Amino acid sequence: MNAPCLVFVTGGVMSGLGKGITTSSIARLLACKGFEVSAMKIDPYINVDAGTMRPTEHGEVFVTADGGEIDQDLGNYERFLHKTLSKDHNLTTGKVYKKVIEKERKGDYLGKTVQIIPHLTDEIKKAIMKNAEGNDILLVEIGGTVGDYENVPFLEAARQLKLELGQRVVFVHVSFVPVPGFLGEPKTKPTQHSVKFLQQMGIQPDFLVCRSVREVDSVRRQKLALFCNVKPECVINNPDVENIYELPLVFESQGFGDAILDKLGLKPRGNQLYLWQRIVDEFRNASKEIVVGIVGKYVATGEFELKDSYISVNEAVKHACAKLGAKPVIKWINSLSENITKDLEEVDCVIVPGGFGSSGVKGKLEAIKYCRENKKPFLGLCFGMQLAVVEFARNVCGLDADSSEINPHAEHKVVDILPEQRGINEKGGTMRLGEFPAVLVKGSLVWKLYEEAGRIADGVVFERHRHRYEVNPEYHDLLESKGMLVSGKSPDGRLAEFIEVKGHPFFVATQAHPEFTSWPGKPNPLFFGLVKAGLEKENSELNDAYR
Ligand code: GLN
Repeated sequence: MNAPCLVFVTGGVMSGLGKGITTSSIARLLACKGFEVSAMKIDPYINVDAGTMRPTEHGEVFVTADGGEIDQDLGNYERFLHKTLSKDHNLTTGKVYKKVIEKERKGDYLGKTVQIIPHLTDEIKKAIMKNAEGNDILLVEIGGTVGDYENVPFLEAARQLKLELGQRVVFVHVSFVPVPGFLGEPKTKPTQHSVKFLQQMGIQPDFLVCRSVREVDSVRRQKLALFCNVKPECVINNPDVENIYELPLVFESQGFGDAILDKLGLKPRGNQLYLWQRIVDEFRNASKEIVVGIVGKYVATGEFELKDSYISVNEAVKHACAKLGAKPVIKWINSLSENITKDLEEVDCVIVPGGFGSSGVKGKLEAIKYCRENKKPFLGLCFGMQLAVVEFARNVCGLDADSSEINPHAEHKVVDILPEQRGINEKGGTMRLGEFPAVLVKGSLVWKLYEEAGRIADGVVFERHRHRYEVNPEYHDLLESKGMLVSGKSPDGRLAEFIEVKGHPFFVATQAHPEFTSWPGKPNPLFFGLVKAGLEKENSELNDAYR
């Protein structure tokens, strides 16, 4: 294998342009050309990781198999690359400073003045090159927007790497080309300014990727090329697409993959994009509508809906639907609203995703009860499973039950703090995090779903976790005696990892976050099962109506 190459992806004009999707799509495209490709994200914030951030602040906290609490973009990389990435694929200002300060305290710098250049930039370069090891190409997405104070050291490290590695480094700048309604024409000036800033930092982008509502015409592309010092054929269109997984194909149609390889001095080693095309076709051909209700509290900020808080859940639903030829209509149900039953009546199946704290619990419990009693397909994720147990304990077992996270004085703490979590005060990185095995009960619904997907070996499945509480093992027997099945447990038999309700068409919940292991073309079995049950329920209701 040759020395690895680097493709830096920077962003201009504003955040939220879909730089992560662009990075992921380039990665997928290059992987389809026969290269070993990986991707990493640099987040210029001071938090050591995303674990302590509220989802409405920063979007979802993605969990890696090795227990990293990471920016949501890593989820996109895994989904597009069909690859599991380690937590080292996320670098933050907090992480780099922490490392440098620890070294300084140990005296590793031998009396030197420790500075941003070269000490911090050296640490950044080292982390990048470590991730590049064993790959042909590493995509490095630099978060934030050029011009921010925070990402300057990272851009400086990238500049140095270009100087050191020459042709093995390429820069892609993703920028916004607005088409203001009052003008009706695409404007290039904001992009020109953001490129100027990069150039001041000593970085000349090789490619401009123009995010816009529609394709930017050749007149504007020529202009951008001239003012930004790139070749016209290196100005790439990135218009809004209905389905994000189409983007690698949009790039391929503009020769973007081959052009990057050419700059890196590489030749394509084949083209397997037809395999990706097949996956995209499944999304394109899906037609049967299914309404999926997601009941959460992180769905709004001010007057706007915030879908990013549950992005992996959202994507997992899409993957499952595409496989089943269905087109999802996702209905966000705010658990903080009063009386959500009417919303629930309008959906074909329901997801109660993860969460923390007592606000919104009332609405979630109401949703769970409704699904259990009305045989509406239901999938509970993490907190969603804990609340399914609370609901069952209260309304089926007749206990005055709660989770001690919500009411520490409850008579029956059917969900309680994990013993190893007692006494932990520090919040960052201290939950039960990452991938853990679970032993499934043979013949259970969950077992069948994982078996069908080929994701079970010797009765064991793996999913990722992020929680401090567990279903209290003292109540397993009682719950089971009343019709709940603990269908998956940790290998020591203590932790309930999966539950289902007997006699219900699909009432399944897990302590894990199966949304993190769902890929386009390879949906997670639980989401697949939920959507399938939702479609079946809809069919049987239609039949009833005709009868
Ligand atoms: N708050 C719950 C716990 O910590 C559930 C966490 C989650 O849903 N990720 O156990």
